[in-house]
Amino acid sequence: MFVTVAVNIPSEKTFSYSVPEALQQEIAIGKRALVPFGKRRLTGYIIEVSHLTGCEDVKEIIEILDFEPLFNEEDLKFYRWVSQYYIYPLGKALAEILPGGIDPKSDRWISITGKREERNDLQISAAQKCIIDTIDHFPGGLPLDRLKSLLGKKDISRDINALVGAGFIVVEERNGKPEITPKTEKLVHLNRQDIAITKLTRKQILITELLHSHGSCSVAALRKGFKNVMPLLRSLERRGIVCISEEEVSRGHGQNPDIGGGEAVITPNEDQEHALCEIVKGLQSSSFSPFLLHGVTGSGKTEVYLNAIAETLRMRGSVIFLIPEIALTPQLLTRFNRRFKGQELAVLHSGISKSARYDQWRRIQRGDINVVIGARSAVFAPVRNLKLIIVDEEHDTSYKQDDRMRYSARDLAIMKANLSLATVILGSATPAVQTYFNTMRGKYRYLVLPRRVEDRPLPKVEIIDMKREAEGSRHTSSHILSRALKEAIDDTLEKKHQALLFLNRRGSYTFTFCFDCGHVFRCLNCAVSMTYHASESNLKCHYCDYAMRPSTSCPACHGKRIRPYGVGTERLEEEVNKLFPHARIERMDSDTTSRKGAYEKILKALDRRDIDILIGTQMITKGHDFPYVTLVGVISADTSLNIPDFRASERTFQLLTQVSGRGGRGASPGRVIIQTFNPGHYAITRARDYDYMGFYDDELALRSALSYPPLTRIVNLQLSSLSREKGMEGLNGLRDFIADSLTKNKWKDKVEVIGPAESPIARIKARHRWQLLLKGKDARAVHNMAKDILSKASITALDIKVDVDPLNFM
Ligand code: ADP
Ligand code: ZN
Repeated sequence: MFVTVAVNIPSEKTFSYSVPEALQQEIAIGKRALVPFGKRRLTGYIIEVSHLTGCEDVKEIIEILDFEPLFNEEDLKFYRWVSQYYIYPLGKALAEILPGGIDPKSDRWISITGKREERNDLQISAAQKCIIDTIDHFPGGLPLDRLKSLLGKKDISRDINALVGAGFIVVEERNGKPEITPKTEKLVHLNRQDIAITKLTRKQILITELLHSHGSCSVAALRKGFKNVMPLLRSLERRGIVCISEEEVSRGHGQNPDIGGGEAVITPNEDQEHALCEIVKGLQSSSFSPFLLHGVTGSGKTEVYLNAIAETLRMRGSVIFLIPEIALTPQLLTRFNRRFKGQELAVLHSGISKSARYDQWRRIQRGDINVVIGARSAVFAPVRNLKLIIVDEEHDTSYKQDDRMRYSARDLAIMKANLSLATVILGSATPAVQTYFNTMRGKYRYLVLPRRVEDRPLPKVEIIDMKREAEGSRHTSSHILSRALKEAIDDTLEKKHQALLFLNRRGSYTFTFCFDCGHVFRCLNCAVSMTYHASESNLKCHYCDYAMRPSTSCPACHGKRIRPYGVGTERLEEEVNKLFPHARIERMDSDTTSRKGAYEKILKALDRRDIDILIGTQMITKGHDFPYVTLVGVISADTSLNIPDFRASERTFQLLTQVSGRGGRGASPGRVIIQTFNPGHYAITRARDYDYMGFYDDELALRSALSYPPLTRIVNLQLSSLSREKGMEGLNGLRDFIADSLTKNKWKDKVEVIGPAESPIARIKARHRWQLLLKGKDARAVHNMAKDILSKASITALDIKVDVDPLNFM
């Protein structure tokens, strides 16, 4: 018997091994096996099992690491597709997809041999003696890395080799336990009902009675009631009255939130009814049925999702429900639990412990759990009988993973539904331009909820031109809040309502610049401006944490007029505190929510109306539903307009619409005030008018003129190197290769190559960055060329890291 495995190495190759007789029973696709790999032992994911001979000289697998598979063939089909689509080796993709922390750690261990006595006779250097002396403290040996850190030296391989050669020490691969393993518990079951009571002690009778009423009980639980319970149980076991077994217990997600008002039974309105009807048709058809559910915030999309889930569960199907931000889980879980009392579900996201993710993963795989709620990675969950995938806020950029394997969970949801013949709902108030484009071309069915429920009005949006504001208020010290916004806050406080103030930058001042020449103070390691943190009175880089003192003169023109500018949430909070000393003010950004539970705490306080003004970054823009929030202030609409990305306008439009939707969700009408220096920009005016179609038309015209996605396909190859010279050298090699393959006609007229050129952020964490855009209408040609470039060996030889960012797969 042979298996093919994928291993977590940067190569597309898979490897064959033979299976020793003793392990053949246990072999299955989806399990992991420990395999010899060169001098190492690696975890291999079994992706094929065969009985064919013909590869006799392959090595044997060492061990099987799983009792049950982590995925089946159907899942594997999807994972293989993912690996190819994102040009990411299967082994690495699987390592990313499967629950973390479950692979045995492979370590190089050093230990002393028995030749202690001879040691004095031989000549060894002082450094080698030092190594021996250190290892002597560890009779069982120690990992090489540990030895290095104890010695405070990295380069000891020559001495180690010499000592191995002399026979004083041995180096071997040892596999440690993985970080996460299944948890087991001793359980006691009652064997017989007809117990001869006379022969039992009083305690034993109590135990059997307990077991009689409970069926079975864990030893740990019994221990709480009975001292020294084990001998009692063993004696019962010997007499055949009970049996004790070791069984796995599943660690759950432990999320049990309760946020937001009670929910009565809701009868869907006409629009919801229509959308549901179409979705149910899709579910019943058992064929791939993709939908775009386009509805303004508060139009009742979540109600539609919940009804679709109910229908799916009736059909005994499974559901994956993707949410953009883990912060949104509490509210959704509350609604879900109220609707589906007792329905078990898995929660998969980075806020859930690794062990719970592992346990839930396996229960999903077995088909024990039918509902999975999670962030982007939940799209990989190995659900059985998948019938429905929901992607809420499908336009949200957090569906895209931006490092390692760069994938878009929204696009994968479509593909997964396609492979599983399932229904997929992409829901949004502001669909991604790409999604709407696909819908217009008939790829997805269009469902719309045009009104808010019960015809609650959308908040009225006002745009404040901050250029005018600055001119008009020369005598006041602050330009952060316009007069209109200040008055509106006053008004809100008076009515005992709540206000949200949105600003997508944390810290005090987002940059410091010279008033004379415009020079901006930047990080030494990263090509970004430094954020001023007033509390520490220094400039900090949000990419690498480099900090420096602000200087008093400009390094470029020696001007003395250095000004901090660009307000962050911290500074905004300070200002609001000063202006509204009696208001209860909270701030919600990644600085204030880094502690576990902090986020939920703030939301609960907002829900209880213990907060009058909540200041925050985009965390506050998403999904929350608080009826007393009647004012939303956008401090600066310009931050997202200025990002160097062809989707900057799209982002801005989405953010503004989203944040506006937070206002006036209850009975009182809401009001939104947007401050900007670009009051005429179409992203802002269209957001003011809630005019998605208008925005889409404006945007598509621009994209079309510049041949950007969705009219073309772009792959962004991001190249980076620690050394600028080596990087440039690599780029030159790459240019030659591209020129060559273009002249050889392979991609000619099909792929437009832009760059390689410096990335918009030319350096991050001291790595120089370039990007190479491949652009064209023929998606396959673009994809294949990207693949070709990636496989070009000289790139790796030249120490350039290449990341494939399939841009418009977003
Ligand atoms: P969305 O997801 O589009 O923002 P929700 O589904 O959260 O909208 O609905 C917004 C609010 O309206 C919720 O409080 C919800 O309970 C309520 N709601 C939804 N549908 C109806 C309906 N048909 N009748 C009355 N209230 C509804
Ligand atoms: Zn930096």
